[in-house]
Amino acid sequence: MIYLDNAAGSFPKPPQVGKAMAEALDEYGANPGRGNYALTRKTASMVESAREKVADLFGMRDSSRVIFTAGATMSLNMAIYGMLKAGDVLLLPGMEHNAVSRPTADLEDRGIIKVRTLLADHEGYLRLPEIEKEVSAAKRPALLALTHSSNVCGAVAPLAKIAALARQKHIPLLVDAAQSGGLIPISMDKTPISLLALAGHKSLYGPPGIGVLLVSDRVDPRPLITGGTGNRSEERRHPDFYPDHLEAGSINVPGIAGLAAALDFVKEIGVEELFGKTMRLTDRLAEMAANTPGIEVYLPELPRQRTPVLALNITKRDPAEAAELLDSRYGICIRSGYHCAPAAHRALGTMEEGCLRFSPGWYNTMDDIEKAGLALAELAR
Ligand code: PLP
Repeated sequence: MIYLDNAAGSFPKPPQVGKAMAEALDEYGANPGRGNYALTRKTASMVESAREKVADLFGMRDSSRVIFTAGATMSLNMAIYGMLKAGDVLLLPGMEHNAVSRPTADLEDRGIIKVRTLLADHEGYLRLPEIEKEVSAAKRPALLALTHSSNVCGAVAPLAKIAALARQKHIPLLVDAAQSGGLIPISMDKTPISLLALAGHKSLYGPPGIGVLLVSDRVDPRPLITGGTGNRSEERRHPDFYPDHLEAGSINVPGIAGLAAALDFVKEIGVEELFGKTMRLTDRLAEMAANTPGIEVYLPELPRQRTPVLALNITKRDPAEAAELLDSRYGICIRSGYHCAPAAHRALGTMEEGCLRFSPGWYNTMDDIEKAGLALAELAR
């Protein structure tokens, strides 16, 4: 089996991830902050150390504003519903995942907000002059939701430029870093990002079911859910201090333990090396595919920043059929069709039937890539 679907969820995980999760379940998985005994204190201390690890990797000074969620979808929903109010305008610059565009559509369809949507260029890159125009409009957006790196084609948005622009216009910036976290260095301290949404299970190599929302001290979203936090239980209203303000209910202790172990792995190898290796694999596959007649590769013509995701189509084959053949004949696992991001498919011109997506991860080898390239060539013939 050759797994090339790491943009959906990295696989396999570093062995220490499962080990840390099993330990949390078997040895100390009490409910943190809910009692005054050693086991709950041990669990709370693991959770706080995991918060510190996230804060450290993403240049966040105040680890209490590192919020654990169920995944990037939940982080993005929390940011969108928590930040926007009636009459607000939201700016979507293009390439959004449904985790952004669906909550947005819900608010728009209920007449609560207005959405300004831009179209990225045909290579999946955002059009900066249009964004500049929108942030200077008479009715300024109340939130700009930026997809840092496209899950369909890997196109990377100019985060520093857009963050500076948003800051200059006093517009809170929400960054969907589900694909880029762990591959591109991001610092909340150096870049004026208001809210950063992360998925634990992709390029951070953690387990599914855990995500993070980083909240800068310049914003204070309303909580999407309220309930027990273990603190101030006598009070009628949900606490307003962090992390409790945005973390209600019992948290995912094994997921957090797994994520903490995954962050140690990311730190040990280094974000640059994780990116470098996976990008070399992606570039090689892109080269093989681009030299194969009958394959259309969605790559930028000039060198532009990308993450290790390769979108392509075999011109004479339906993507779903091609993916099925790659699996059944060659044992190659990839994603096909639409990738939960209609905005990206509109930009790339793949709205009709979607595309195939290859996304190498740390555990892939050049041999996997050579085999995938040859399999593609056979299917194209
Ligand atoms: N945003 C992007 C760009 C994604 O690729 C994904 C997952 O595919 C998400 C958001 C949602 O992430 P999660 O699966 O952690 O909810």
